[in-house]
Amino acid sequence: MVFMAQQRNSTSMSSPLSKPGEHKLSVSLEPETTSPTVEEDSMELGDTVNQEEVMKNMLGEDSQSEHLESALSEASARYNSALDMTLKALLNIKILKEDLMHNMQPLQHHLEDQVPSVLQNFFTAFVSEEIKTEGVYSYLLSDLLALLEEVLSMSSGAAEVLVAILEFWHCWKNAERESLVTRLFTLEEKERMSCRKCRKKPNYPEQSSYGIVMAADSIRDLKCALGNIEFVDILKVIRMDYTMLCDIKNGGCGIANFIHHIISKCPPIFTIVLEWEKSETEKEISETTKAFEWEIDISRLYAGLEPKTNYRLASMVGCDEKQEHICIAYEKNRWVNLRRDALAGEDVGNWKSVVRFCGERKVRPEILFYEVVRSMA
Ligand SMILES: [Zn+2]
Repeated sequence: MVFMAQQRNSTSMSSPLSKPGEHKLSVSLEPETTSPTVEEDSMELGDTVNQEEVMKNMLGEDSQSEHLESALSEASARYNSALDMTLKALLNIKILKEDLMHNMQPLQHHLEDQVPSVLQNFFTAFVSEEIKTEGVYSYLLSDLLALLEEVLSMSSGAAEVLVAILEFWHCWKNAERESLVTRLFTLEEKERMSCRKCRKKPNYPEQSSYGIVMAADSIRDLKCALGNIEFVDILKVIRMDYTMLCDIKNGGCGIANFIHHIISKCPPIFTIVLEWEKSETEKEISETTKAFEWEIDISRLYAGLEPKTNYRLASMVGCDEKQEHICIAYEKNRWVNLRRDALAGEDVGNWKSVVRFCGERKVRPEILFYEVVRSMA
């Protein structure tokens, strides 16, 4: 499973979304159809971790994490920060925590072999709040780091780390229910095209993804050009640009047509991954982040949803010039910057302050986690 990056047969070759880097992400983690290596690996890795030992260690020396920290090279420190901040961003999604709490019982009773036990330990400690105990978070983080190192390259950014976590997480389920990843993160989308020349209406199969990928410069260009445009409309305009060829093999005429995006399952967590050139100036970063909005109406982006299907930004993962990742999260009516080696946040302020913060520190937001706003009824 991947992020919905670009359309197959896309003729919009100029789209920055068809960069080779992203292609790799799509191919290497392609789901179900080709059996993912991640799952196979996780099986073995899961077995080697002794549950009791983990618990003993969790309660024991927290010097462990310090020791590990010092041994890490610069590259792995960067990767370490990507994992750390992606996890912290996930932990800040309320719907995720609630879902985990409600599903704790069945999860504990269905410890299957292929379940990546380290990931499970991590989220179990999160739900029980044990993770707040000094040293527990760093211990679990270093455990996960070691586990994911087997499947991820050290140059992985936050988006690749997130995909790996979600792929592992798929294994954590019981027979009666779909996995948490399917329930909370998976978007089911159909593309419809009606050929304007030959009137053919090919039925494209439904596609699953963990969210959408957008090029930061496309967002910035539209924001600068149109000023007052809302974030969700920027996303819509960029996606409208995708075209699909009327398939000659199936009797079509071969011309390019625009695609309609129809959603059949909108998950409570809507994830947007942003791709950057990594050479942006402070001004360009600010101009991009200015386009983001705290609340977005997803029904403007997809057909098939009730009007005012609102989502709010819960947290985001960014990366600064030194390739150090950061997490900015919404907590109790303000934004906080969550630092490494601490669960408590540093105050950033309101949304305007977040935009300023990103610009000044040259932080490029890479993942935006939106969660659905539940109706009061
Ligand atoms: Zn046609």
